[in-house]
Amino acid sequence: MNKLKKIIQLIYDENLLHDYENGKIDFTHFSSRLKTAYKKLKKKKTILRPAVQQFAVQMELTLRDNDHKSGWKSYSDEFLIGKIGEEVSELILTKDYIEGPGSHSPAQEAIDVANFAMMFWDNYITRLKEKKS
Ligand SMILES: [Mg+2]
Repeated sequence: MNKLKKIIQLIYDENLLHDYENGKIDFTHFSSRLKTAYKKLKKKKTILRPAVQQFAVQMELTLRDNDHKSGWKSYSDEFLIGKIGEEVSELILTKDYIEGPGSHSPAQEAIDVANFAMMFWDNYITRLKEKKS
């Protein structure tokens, strides 16, 4: 969402236009309430929703199980994309398994896909930051 859309959404969510039009707030108050609402929204965005939080914890636990390996900084994009493909295939093969979580459960395969995607993302973002600096 671009900044203008966010501001319009905030004006709507906070009922600011209604209050302004009805003389309940003046322009200065309108502006300060908008700033407060914007700060609140930014703070909200840093809080993970429960499913993302739980998924991220599972990603981290899997990464820790593999801490004895060298990490992903030296992996090429092609290698990581290949691994994502392999993990997606494993997810497809296991998707109907209903046994509890295990190393070959669909839940674990989804975590594997996400971890390799995260590694690709991290390497890409790192390169981008290095290019800009
Ligand atoms: Mg796997």
